Amino acid sequence: MVQNIKYSIIIPVYNEEQVIHQTYQRLKTVMNSTGASYELLFVNDGSMDQTEESLIDIRGMDETVKLLNFSRNFGHQIAISAGMDYARGEAVVIIDADLQDPPELILDMIEKWMEGFDVVYAKRINRKGETFFKKKTASMFYRTLRGMTDIDIPMDTGDFRLMDRKVVDQMKNIREKNRFVRGLASWVGFRQTAIEYEREERFAGETKYPLKKMLKLSLDGITSFSYKPLKLAGYTGFLLSVVGFIYMFTVLYLKIFTKQTVSGWSSLIIIQLVFSGFMLMILGVIGEYIGRIYDETKDRPLYIVRDSYGLQHSKRKATK
Ligand code: UDP
Ligand code: MG
Repeated sequence: MVQNIKYSIIIPVYNEEQVIHQTYQRLKTVMNSTGASYELLFVNDGSMDQTEESLIDIRGMDETVKLLNFSRNFGHQIAISAGMDYARGEAVVIIDADLQDPPELILDMIEKWMEGFDVVYAKRINRKGETFFKKKTASMFYRTLRGMTDIDIPMDTGDFRLMDRKVVDQMKNIREKNRFVRGLASWVGFRQTAIEYEREERFAGETKYPLKKMLKLSLDGITSFSYKPLKLAGYTGFLLSVVGFIYMFTVLYLKIFTKQTVSGWSSLIIIQLVFSGFMLMILGVIGEYIGRIYDETKDRPLYIVRDSYGLQHSKRKATK
């Protein structure tokens, strides 16, 4: 009979050898102060440095540390989803490994959870040590996303949150491939509340979210929760053809009833370029959705586990 665990902390790690010891220490101190049972579940997302070795060492001394090794890098969103599949706690916390999310905040989250909230998410009121570009684009993204969806996805909120067991069980049933976990956590509903915090600088190492991954995440966010970009294609198309017709009648009018004719290779080529540009852009938008539909139909597993330490495979839903 496996013993019950009160808190599961999920920590996705990708090449985090420089921070892993410090993160472990901070989490340990915080979790010990709760006086309850807990597990620190590290999901190693295909790290190529010494992250795995360090974690195995740490686990050698401390059995509360659990480790799930992916067969390769599957991405941060998949890593936290896998963490939820394996976590056994009554409350589950997701936190970054780089100490940008202060572990001490978990205690405030627990307090809210005990008051009866099912999801406690951490809202960033300030972000230290990140580039102006990152802060600006992130802020624009959250506002655009909000404008596009009917679901109440909180602004300036990452994946740092606590979720009750019943929320996690619902999240586990969602097996979509290109996932935006913070959106899904809003989508499932339940009683949610926020706590505010200042996001710290990364403790050491580089961001593992280059522009390409950020872009992919934002497109996943928008396409998972809104059809608006598709509708936009329809609206713009309609608008452009109205403009086109007006122009056509003007040209015909001038030709038939006046001596003027609209001259023009340059105007023609401009119209041609602008319109085909629009068309290709819209095809690109449709492509984003079709690609995601294709991913769903292939129905590959979300992730592949190479090996694990201290985790139970049984009675868990298939990793489909
Ligand atoms: N991460 C991951 N897989 C990836 C990229 C990132 O598991 O492909 C982890 C990373 O180790 C960290 C968290 O996701 O714990 C957030 O990444 P990072 O701090 O680099 O993102 P940022 O805070 O710069 O947006
Ligand atoms: Mg970070």
